[in-house]
Amino acid sequence: MAAASTTLKVVLVVADGVGDRPIRSLNGKTPLEAARTPTLDRLATEGATGLLHVIAPGVPPGSDTGHLALFGYDPYNCYTGRGAFEALGAGLDLQPADVAFRGNFATVQQLKDKTFKVVDRRAGRSLPEAAALTALIDGLSLPRGLKVKVLVRHTAEHRCVVVLRGASLSVHVGDTDPHGHGDVMLTSQPLDRTPSARRTAGLVDTLTQEFYRALSATPINAKRRQAGLPEANMVLLRGAGGLPTIPPLRDIYGVRTACVAGGALYKGVARSVGMDIINVPGATASYDTDVDAKARAAATALTTHDYVFVHFKATDTAAHDKDPTKKVAMVEKLDHLLSVLASQINRDQTYIAVTGDHTTACDLGNHTGDPVPLLVTGPGVRSDSVTRFTERACAAGGLGHLRGRDLMSLLMNYVERTPMFGA
Ligand code: ZN
Ligand code: ZN
Repeated sequence: MAAASTTLKVVLVVADGVGDRPIRSLNGKTPLEAARTPTLDRLATEGATGLLHVIAPGVPPGSDTGHLALFGYDPYNCYTGRGAFEALGAGLDLQPADVAFRGNFATVQQLKDKTFKVVDRRAGRSLPEAAALTALIDGLSLPRGLKVKVLVRHTAEHRCVVVLRGASLSVHVGDTDPHGHGDVMLTSQPLDRTPSARRTAGLVDTLTQEFYRALSATPINAKRRQAGLPEANMVLLRGAGGLPTIPPLRDIYGVRTACVAGGALYKGVARSVGMDIINVPGATASYDTDVDAKARAAATALTTHDYVFVHFKATDTAAHDKDPTKKVAMVEKLDHLLSVLASQINRDQTYIAVTGDHTTACDLGNHTGDPVPLLVTGPGVRSDSVTRFTERACAAGGLGHLRGRDLMSLLMNYVERTPMFGA
């Protein structure tokens, strides 16, 4: 058996927020139940299914912690904040002492006391000038000899990452993003009593003033004003984090791993565990993402890697938009991704696993702690009686109920990479 082990591969397809609850407008069905999914049905029939409690029963996962768990890690031990993953995903070579934030270009109005009222947290959301605005504030110099570098990278739409690089910085600082329209921007607060946290919070507040000074003066915003568009005259910061120290999957299982994803966060989590990032033109992490291109890229990556992670974002987005009909359509798009993928790979030596990183309930527009369906199919997998990839059908599956972090050893067992315990 050992001779065959070198050729066995895994492709894990994660549909973000794919789980849901029964929805009245879908006649009490979930989007997975209401969708037409011939490929998922076939894979579920061939393979074994179950339910995954991604973090722990009843705990709503974030996408970052959810993916860490799906890659076999305990997020309670290795999670260091979303900003760090976004920065890695945006291609920044994050250093151990850096502090990374998620940023939103936003529209603010300066009040008499020099504080800022948030008029639009997303500066209209679609922001074609985002790359030019990013270039304007990347490398921004701070006054009074503050020896800190400011690195900014655009990720998508109104979103960016901001990294502070210098001595004596701390990740234990609060957000400036008040999270509501019409709210006054927060001053960053130190979250512990260390001098570095106090210094960093002060730097963040200086940065707020400098962002406003640089962005409100640019002709780009003068043009937006003339066109009746909200000015992007501020960057709201949240989710301070540092470089996570996570042992790569290669060191744990001896596998070469790769990631096919559109969104910066997912690329960042994948990079943090040592995956090679395959950039696919047309993979947008939005409704219009090119699933044919992603499936083909994953099939190609399987020729050089042992484990390929494919991320599909649109199911989560539709649920955040509280749009069950859209989520049904995105589940059907996921089904198409799987049909292309399954047709392009050598099924005799490749395991296909499909799951979600959490439930995103359309009724609530948010993540919940309900488990997500899981299917695994490939050579020697003990099939069960389940014939659909849905929350309720997979509850009867042969894999039973698992924690998210058990998925990796389950998959590595099929490809003969999980070492035997005992003699
Ligand atoms: Zn997610
Ligand atoms: Zn989400």
